[in-house]
Parts: sequence; C-alpha cells; structure tokens
Amino acid sequence: MLDLTGQYERIRNEVDEAIADVVKAGNFIRGKQIKIFQEALSEYMHVPYVIPCGNGTDALQVALMSLDLQPGDEVITVPFTFISTIEVIRLLGFKVVLCDVDPDTFNIDIVKLKDLISDKTKVILPVHLFGQCVDMDSINELAEKHGLFIIEDAAQALGTNYIYRNGEKKKAGTIGTIGCTSFFPSKNLGAWGDGGAIFTGNSTYGKKMQAIVNHGMEKKYYYEYVGVNSRLDTLQAAILNVKLKYLDDNIKAKVKIADLYDEKLKAIPGIQLPKRINWSDHSFHQYTIKVFDNRRDILKNYLQERNIPSMVYYPLPAHLQKAYADLGYRKGDFPVSEELCSQVLSLPIYPELEEEQLCYICETVKECICS
Ligand SMILES: *Cc1c(COP(=O)(O)O)cnc(C)c1O
Repeated sequence: MLDLTGQYERIRNEVDEAIADVVKAGNFIRGKQIKIFQEALSEYMHVPYVIPCGNGTDALQVALMSLDLQPGDEVITVPFTFISTIEVIRLLGFKVVLCDVDPDTFNIDIVKLKDLISDKTKVILPVHLFGQCVDMDSINELAEKHGLFIIEDAAQALGTNYIYRNGEKKKAGTIGTIGCTSFFPSKNLGAWGDGGAIFTGNSTYGKKMQAIVNHGMEKKYYYEYVGVNSRLDTLQAAILNVKLKYLDDNIKAKVKIADLYDEKLKAIPGIQLPKRINWSDHSFHQYTIKVFDNRRDILKNYLQERNIPSMVYYPLPAHLQKAYADLGYRKGDFPVSEELCSQVLSLPIYPELEEEQLCYICETVKECICS
C-alpha cells in the first residue's frame, strides 16, 4: 500500500544527516530536536501548544486525562474508526457512547449525534477519517450549546484544511478543545517508528498535558498529576523535522493521484468513489471506494491475484468486537457502519505511485467489475 523505500531514497541525505546528529549528541530522550520539531509543527498548525508524545493512542488518552472527567462521564464517538479512539475512553473508565456515521463521508452523522447528547455527556470525539474533516461548524455549535469538550482524532488528517462556513480555514486538529495526531509510518506525516502529538490553544490544558506525558512532572521529581511515560523519541523528532517540510507537497501529490483515480474509475458501475465535500480539503490518507452487490471481497481477491495490494479499513465495527461486547451494543445498532464494513476498499495511494501503476490498478478494477 506504501513505498517507504522510495520515500527514503528521496530524502536520504537529509535524513541520514539528521539521524547522525542525534547519535553523535547521544540525546536520545528529550534532545534538542524535540523542541525544534515542536516549534516547527506549532508554526505549521498555527496552534500555540504542541505536545509531542509516544504515539497517537497516547495522544488521545492524555487528552482525555487532562479534562478532569469523572468515572461514568460520557464520551461520544463512532464505531467506524481505528480501535484506539474507543480503547482509551474505556481504559480510563469513561462511558463509550457510539454514534453511527454518514454513508458517504464515513464521518460522524450530525443528526444522530444530536439525539445522543445527555446530561452525562462531557466530550464529543469526532474522527476525521481517511483524511477528510468532520463538519466541525455543527460540532462546535452542539458543543457550545451543551457545554461539551471536543477532542479531534486527527490521526489520519494531519495537514488537512477545514473550511468554516464563513470561509476561514484551520488545520484539522486545531479546531476543537484538543486535537490528536499520530506519526505511525503510514500516516500523512510518518515517522520511522511510533510517534504522536497533541494540539491545543488552551494554556491550562497545554501545560497540563505537557506534564502528563512526562509522568505528570512539572519540577524535577515533583509530581502535579498522575501521568504516563509517553515521550516522542529524539530520533523520530529528527526524522520528522526533515519530513514535515515535505508534508504539503506529499498531500498535493496524493490529491493529484486521487483526481486521476476519480477520472479513471468514474465510469465503472457498481462502485462509489470517495465523496468530496465543501467544508474540508482531503489529504487522502486513504483512497477508499465502496463496492456494491457483495462484490468487495471478490474485487479484493482479484486484485491480490494480480499483485495489487488493497486494504479493508475496517472489516468489523467497534461495537461488534469481542473486547467491547460489554458496551452493550448489538448487531443492527449502527447499520451504516456495519454496511460500510462489507463495502469499503482502500486502493494504494502514496506520492511515489506512478501513473502507469495507477492505470494498471484501474484497468484491473474495471476488468473484475465488468466481467
Ligand atoms: C492511527 C490511528 C490512531 C492511533 O495512532 P497510533 O500512533 O497508531 O497509536 C488513532 N486513531 C486513528 C483514527 C488512527 O488512524
């Protein structure tokens, strides 16, 4: 699905040098590259507080830990997401309240969300899935009306611009109370190992989260909060410092590829192309089509036999996972998410993907569907 070797070739000199600098200095924990990265990302995101951490899952957990929630407080999110989103709510003892998604954008269904807000609701946790933003104007309105926090899961949407109804733009992850992202190697800005970051404009939460990721420590060996050990590696920060400079170019390259996919696939019946919406750009973390008439797995196998990778994100929604049976949901509770799990197929998309390869992929999709 990705060409990490090809990507390395393009930035080899810069990144080798950056790694050598860290090794020479021996500052593997909290080295100067962390601060440099923090500042560069803060400028890129136009957000005052950037807290680098160990991974995107920890970013979500630390965000939830900073809000002084009580056991049993409700956090609303979606069942059609990577499991981290739900895992951290559960681990911290808050109540997971799930809301179905929209069949075209794959993101939280605002109409259904309204009905789920209760006296116990404290947080809305929207996920900007596959690189496209949730309708944040609507989320903001609901949060304001009911006095709720918003934690954005922007793990798949780093670099995506959200476009407000008044035309103003902001980066995904800087709209809610707190935003979280991941530098897992396949994400928009991928490290060469694990990494994550948290964003906020609120100084209270910003300072608190900065302490929480380092054991809740503000002054050396004095602990203000119960914390965790979740620091970004200096080596990863050094690599990310190089790669951040190319993030926008990489997104542009992926959008071009997505446009070409749209063009080549649009006449094929029985599939639906990714929907583009007017409140968000798309960074195409994934290019995800829907395949109708129960033909998704047939297509996936057909591609596989011809050496074309494709992936199903996600094959089973969270509410039907064994580990989460005690949330009390049942099959049929979230019909859109359940149906999507049987229809979605993500095709390869990365800046190094060549037009010739893309044409071969599209021809093969057509051959399978139309035969
Ligand atoms: C990748 C991902 C995460 C978790 O990030 P990690 O760095 O792998 O812990 C959380 N939410 C979503 C939607 C993701 O795609």
